[in-house]
Amino acid sequence: MSRVFNFSAGPAAIPEPVLKQAQEELLDFRGTGMSVMEMSHRGKVFMDVAHEVESDFRALLGIPADYKVLFLQGGGKGEFSIVPLNLLRGKKKADYVNTGHWSAGAIKEAAKYCDVHVVASSEDRKFTYVPKQSAWHLSPEAAYVHVCTNETIHGVEYFWTPETGGVPLVADMSSHILSRPIDVSRYGCIYGGAQKNIGPSGLTFVIVREDLLGGAHPWTPSVFDYTQQAGNDWMLNTPPTFAVYLAGLTFKWLNTQGGLAGMERINIRKAELLYGCIDNSGGFYSNPIAREDRSRMNVPFILKDEKLNAVFLEESLAAGLAGLKGHKAVGGMRASIYNAVSLAGVQALVDFMNGFARRHG
Ligand code: PMP
Repeated sequence: MSRVFNFSAGPAAIPEPVLKQAQEELLDFRGTGMSVMEMSHRGKVFMDVAHEVESDFRALLGIPADYKVLFLQGGGKGEFSIVPLNLLRGKKKADYVNTGHWSAGAIKEAAKYCDVHVVASSEDRKFTYVPKQSAWHLSPEAAYVHVCTNETIHGVEYFWTPETGGVPLVADMSSHILSRPIDVSRYGCIYGGAQKNIGPSGLTFVIVREDLLGGAHPWTPSVFDYTQQAGNDWMLNTPPTFAVYLAGLTFKWLNTQGGLAGMERINIRKAELLYGCIDNSGGFYSNPIAREDRSRMNVPFILKDEKLNAVFLEESLAAGLAGLKGHKAVGGMRASIYNAVSLAGVQALVDFMNGFARRHG
């Protein structure tokens, strides 16, 4: 079978040049006669890979020198579960904004360790918007303020950076990291899973300001302790070496797309094309998210006639468009149009959707 256009929410599409290079290098990596996943993580060849991966990630995002970068394991859930262990730093309270499924997951985990104060929530309108900053009730004594800046299931994205009055801002950016430039210096900590815009699952990233280190709860397992991992160049234990290597290839591919500014231009065109199709379908398709908060990465949409869902999925797959089934929490369809999904892929989806609406409308 030829390759499909893959709209999966994650694990998700990986750029084809990345997969091809990995394939070419699979049996003999850089003249070593072995695969990159067969060699010691402490040997020079892999150490060179690791350094390059970190420095390319830093360069892409413009990460300031006073931030540590860690590549860890445990998935996005693992990451939001260890935020309180690392960042409460003896404090008893943390502020959380609830914008959907993944914020709620982070809140549930944090409640095991501290008094969670939900400073704002969009649950009143089924998580279809980002609450305006003016409606947030921040606690000055909070250890940090936590947000999920792209809700993968609900399709809601922040296009502004919250102002937290000196309290460190912590963000789960799992599903839109590297989709556009961000000002890292506005955050105390940014984290996420890799399996959307970075590479394969099994790898996570943490970007943390150095002054927030050193205060992990004493029960924090060493491998999940930012400070200990930072002190060991994130190699306190064996990292998922193949995933790290693939992330590195993705970072190099991003540079061929014009870096994050170039990627953002492409992502804007993709999102405009798809939302345009939904909005101009005369109600055949709809997306309930407030216009200014619509995610450029995850586009959930429902069909007016839900009875057509199964045939939509069947016909789209036959047309080479995979992974469009929506999450059960919101139903309908979802097209995840991460960096690796090309403009041509979104155009193919839109052509299919327009044709489907004509045939079934
Ligand atoms: N946060 C966000 C924003 C996510 O989209 C996801 C997964 N889709 C997670 C956390 C959880 O990631 P994992 O399944 O790797 O634990």
